[in-house]
Amino acid sequence: MQLNNLEDVLAHEIQDLHSAEKQLVAALPKMAKAATSSKLQKAFEKHLDVTKEQLKRIEEVGKKIGIELDGHVCEGMKGLIKEASGLIEENEMNEALDVALISAAQRVEHYEIGAYGSAVEFAKELGHDDAAKMLQMTLDEEGAADKELTKIAEGGVNERAQA
Ligand code: FE
Ligand code: ZN
Ligand code: FE
Repeated sequence: MQLNNLEDVLAHEIQDLHSAEKQLVAALPKMAKAATSSKLQKAFEKHLDVTKEQLKRIEEVGKKIGIELDGHVCEGMKGLIKEASGLIEENEMNEALDVALISAAQRVEHYEIGAYGSAVEFAKELGHDDAAKMLQMTLDEEGAADKELTKIAEGGVNERAQA
């Protein structure tokens, strides 16, 4: 896609995020199943529910602005999920895998935070106020998910993996 203006860049961000959320909805159940810590498992399951809503929300944003969503594959999310899947395939479930899964999940959240942060600014600049608010809502949820993962890591998962 040839990008010619900020509207085009926003359209690309939305397409990319749509693909990213879709891929994450498919990947989070496997990450939840691979977690030994029940707190971590619950956090992944909770973020799966949140992510399903985010997928609907990004579809609404696309509709609002008039963007065709299908066709683009977010290679960034694909790579992050591939690494997480590799960890799950190569390792027996234990506390060390929990720590590695938290780190992988935090990479995902940071990737999303970067993309949504940009999308919010572009939408504001272009006067798409409703879209900007919706994107900000998701951005806040990704931030909360990231903080919760830090809390779980510091709340015993890192320590248990030292044995
Ligand atoms: Fe998300
Ligand atoms: Zn991408
Ligand atoms: Fe997320």
